[in-house]
Amino acid sequence: MRKKFVAANWKMYTNRVGAQQLAADVVKGLAGDDRVTVALCPPFPYLAFVADAVKGSKVVLGAQNMYPDKEGAFTGEVSPTMLLDVGCTHVILGHSERRHKLGESDWFINQKVRSALAAGLQVILCVGETLDERKSNQTDAVLDRQLTQGLVDVAAADTPRLVVAYEPVWAIGTGHNATPEQAQEAHAFLRRRFGQIFSEKAAVALPIQYGGSVKPDNAAILFAQPDVDGGLIGGASLKADSFLAIVRAGIS
Ligand code: PEP
Repeated sequence: MRKKFVAANWKMYTNRVGAQQLAADVVKGLAGDDRVTVALCPPFPYLAFVADAVKGSKVVLGAQNMYPDKEGAFTGEVSPTMLLDVGCTHVILGHSERRHKLGESDWFINQKVRSALAAGLQVILCVGETLDERKSNQTDAVLDRQLTQGLVDVAAADTPRLVVAYEPVWAIGTGHNATPEQAQEAHAFLRRRFGQIFSEKAAVALPIQYGGSVKPDNAAILFAQPDVDGGLIGGASLKADSFLAIVRAGIS
């Protein structure tokens, strides 16, 4: 059985003191329980502070983005080696806010995925359709394109360090989550396609998170779907109580 994996995407929220406190509260609330894998993904400036707060616990640290090169004249960017250096084990790539608000292409996301894996990071690759795409029955085609193009030239040997997050754009930060049936259908599709790209074995092992307005009161039913292996949590991860309640919903 796949272990549930719940990751907190703090986006461009918190401050130094708030981030440290939130991380400390999550660590305390979990009290060493690692039945669910938990990752905290703070903004770049707070990574090192949160790294200190989770040190010695089972909580892992993730970044929300990175640049594909190791170093260079890329003003304002952050490399995979820098993320490793401050204690990150994970990085979120292809989040819909980066695809749609910052214009990131499947090609660019693929450069990042390959670079992150080559550096030794674990990748949470986000995919998801817009409302217009869903309404015009393009959901499968969009998921197929984002998954396939995001994984171009990824070696089968690296698949154990991949996580896919299904995040319908219309559900992110809107309070409208996908129904458990919609989530299950999309996750099953992504797992099937992943199996065709790599292998049945890799697909069975792949954690697929659901993201999009997960809250304490809908987490359990979403996480109970056979192909939903946890969540990528935005708004509800900014309060320790609600985030911990969501993590607990993943304990089976
Ligand atoms: C996200 O940021 O990935 C997300 C799913 O946000 P929210 O939970 O707020 O919808």
